[in-house]
Amino acid sequence: MSASFPPLREELQGIEPYGAPQMSLEQVPVQLNVNENPYGPSPVAAADIARAVGEAAVSLNRYPDREFVALREALAGYLNTSGGCDITPAMVWAANGSNEVMLQLLQAFGGPGRVALSFAPTYSMYPEYARDTMTEWVAGHRAEDFSLDLDAARQLVEERRPSVVLLPSPNNPTGTALPPEAVSMLCEAAASYEPGGLVVVDEAYGEFRRAGTPSALELLPRHRNLVVTRTMSKAFALAGARLGYLAADPAICDAIRVVRLPYHLSAVTQATALAALRHAPELLGKVDDLRAERDATVVWLREQGLVVADSDANFVLFGRFADRHALWQGLVDRGVLIRETGPDGWLRVSVGTADEMAVFRHALVETMETQQMEAPA
Ligand SMILES: *Cc1c(COP(=O)(O)O)cnc(C)c1O
Repeated sequence: MSASFPPLREELQGIEPYGAPQMSLEQVPVQLNVNENPYGPSPVAAADIARAVGEAAVSLNRYPDREFVALREALAGYLNTSGGCDITPAMVWAANGSNEVMLQLLQAFGGPGRVALSFAPTYSMYPEYARDTMTEWVAGHRAEDFSLDLDAARQLVEERRPSVVLLPSPNNPTGTALPPEAVSMLCEAAASYEPGGLVVVDEAYGEFRRAGTPSALELLPRHRNLVVTRTMSKAFALAGARLGYLAADPAICDAIRVVRLPYHLSAVTQATALAALRHAPELLGKVDDLRAERDATVVWLREQGLVVADSDANFVLFGRFADRHALWQGLVDRGVLIRETGPDGWLRVSVGTADEMAVFRHALVETMETQQMEAPA
């Protein structure tokens, strides 16, 4: 076999596929590493989803509704109860996870000669969408406390003139939510040059935001270059179904239609998501518990003398450890899987059930004690 087989694009050669380590529940029973909702659907919701999929199965010989009209209506209705107002089905687009939605945005609005911009630390998938669409990737920086320095941010946008600005809020991996002034200011900055850029606020964790933290959905009527993405993977407890979506000006949705694959949302996915949305209050029912558990986790970690980022999400970033990998491994050895991510020295734990968090706390105390004893004086 020649050294150049397969004939992969040069910039993709030697790159490992993205993904958190996946370990079996037998290996590591407490999994707090990918920000899933630890509570699955109730038997009633699961049965309703199964019935809906069963009904869809009868006509699987046919392609699905390419425009997923019923689903867009249901998603618009949900968004209007979750921070949005007057969001219409024409303003909604969906795909297989919000990762696909954002890739489609880069396919339509990025490309050679164009720039995608975010502020680090930020979601680690963004540079991959840029790479895959041959869009130049530019990363500015967040302040020490992971907030955005608004003047510096605006300056960078005006200087680099990105076609797409990607702003996770609450941010992954830090949990930081952006104030509406920041979003508005960046929307204005991205509208100040030709042909202008889109500002994508990735609200994958939007439902977990603390009381008083507004959603960027409120700003949609004011900025036509604003896109707000959401997902059913986190608060909705539906990561396995793969359904993400956005709300934006209908012209933005129309532009995405040009690059989407035909019938990209399967009939099974549409039926699953529609049935899940009928059970929205129940599937989202644990969000308040998880927010309380998150707040308690922040307090507890601080009591251990650790540095902890404020969080509006269902995870907490904490540190700082001279050898974070040793700490991560110590937790794995005690049956707890968290995520080695974020700036050097930090670790991220997803908020699980009360029982899981108790196991996490116990394992963390034990690991820190052991490592202190082993550390050279
Ligand atoms: C988890 C996550 C998503 C959601 O991804 P899906 O493809 O919808 O499962 C999007 N953005 C961020 C920042 C995330 O952490």
